[in-house]
Amino acid sequence: MKIIVVGAGIYGLSTAVQLSLRGHEVEVIDKGLIPNSHSSSFDFHRLIRHAYGPQQGYASLIPPAFEAWDRMWSLLGESFYIETGALVLGKKNDPWMTNSRSSLQSLNVPFEDWNTSQLRSRLPWLRVFPNEEALFCIPGGIIRSGLVVTALAKYLEQHGVRLHENIDIVKIDESTASLTDRDGNIFSADRIVTALGAGHDVLYSSEVTSFRQVYALYPNPPKVASIEGGCPMILDIAEDAGFYFVPGSTHFPAKVGDHITRFKGSPYAGRKIAPEEIENLQSVINSRVLTEDADSAGPLSKTKALPKYGLCYYACSKDRTIQLASKGKSIRIFGGSGHGFKFGALFGEMVAQCVTGERSLSSAQNIVQGKALP
Ligand SMILES: Cc1cc2nc3c(=O)[nH]c(=O)nc-3n(C[C@H](O)[C@H](O)[C@H](O)COP(=O)(O)OP(=O)(O)OC[C@H]3O[C@@H](n4cnc5c(N)ncnc54)[C@H](O)[C@@H]3O)c2cc1C
Repeated sequence: MKIIVVGAGIYGLSTAVQLSLRGHEVEVIDKGLIPNSHSSSFDFHRLIRHAYGPQQGYASLIPPAFEAWDRMWSLLGESFYIETGALVLGKKNDPWMTNSRSSLQSLNVPFEDWNTSQLRSRLPWLRVFPNEEALFCIPGGIIRSGLVVTALAKYLEQHGVRLHENIDIVKIDESTASLTDRDGNIFSADRIVTALGAGHDVLYSSEVTSFRQVYALYPNPPKVASIEGGCPMILDIAEDAGFYFVPGSTHFPAKVGDHITRFKGSPYAGRKIAPEEIENLQSVINSRVLTEDADSAGPLSKTKALPKYGLCYYACSKDRTIQLASKGKSIRIFGGSGHGFKFGALFGEMVAQCVTGERSLSSAQNIVQGKALP
């Protein structure tokens, strides 16, 4: 079959690799370069962790997600995963923490409760409140997402897959499997796969809402905020404060962001960051980083180097699960709530299996929505 994949983020590229491995003629189209530095998938890091609160179905998909990444690392000849462990902070007995604990137990994933003195000695810069608990779990850590999509694009090129850059698809005819770009050019295939990320908001605006996510990068973090110094990834699950922290290294910066979706915006509204977005991020940082202790806070302290800010978009579906939809000769994957990278290798396999008829649509739909295991 000839299959065109539109969208060269993690979902599109991973699906294209799977289809190419099965011997199909595959082409990939993106409105930007491939990989596209403006896609959600292109960044220094994306996190993978088992603690998933009430979304226990997604917690159960983490072991198969790790296995799928291992298959991808074998194919690429290199792993882009760095195990840091995952530390989750939340109010004592909060249902999110209780649910995470029970899914970790049922998955037989080891975890530890860190008390205040353990936290103070491991992470002297982190503010933790007396009514909170901290759950630490290995495995969990960082996937170097930008390197992954770069390696996938290279792999595809080396295996004869045509990559079409700077082609903006404005119309998809699912019944004939044909695509029209902004200049009126038509691309035809036997099947179409679309994985547009936040771009879904343009062609299918009633199904998703796009959000702007601003983050701060800190190059050369001190030991206490670095992978080499044993700093884990940190996730604050409190409803009103969405602090997350990605430790840095000598090769890439540390990152602080806010995982709560506060600022809506079209993915094509540009990358200029508004003052209120910086103010919001700064208050999230201040809620967790002890800036009065400048030495331990290192570059996260206001007294040291200023961070660089970045902006990225993601599109959330209404129920915040990842969605798979099929019409005519086309299948598309979209949505979630900004947590989709970690499933990129696994869901690429699912979409490819669906396209080739190895798996039914309903089976793949249940899996990507976190309702069933592969
Ligand atoms: C700040 C931030 C932090 C995140 N943190 C995490 C995390 O820690 N862990 C995690 O698992 N996930 C995380 N995510 C979510 C994750 O990055 C996304 O779920 C995932 O990358 C989406 O991949 P995708 O392939 O669907 O979309 P994308 O990577 O956005 O790729 C879509 C591609 O489609 C192209 N495209 C769109 N429209 C068209 C069109 N009309 N014609 C041609 N091409 C088109 C775009 O140019 C783009 O290259 C985060 C996201 C953000 C923004």
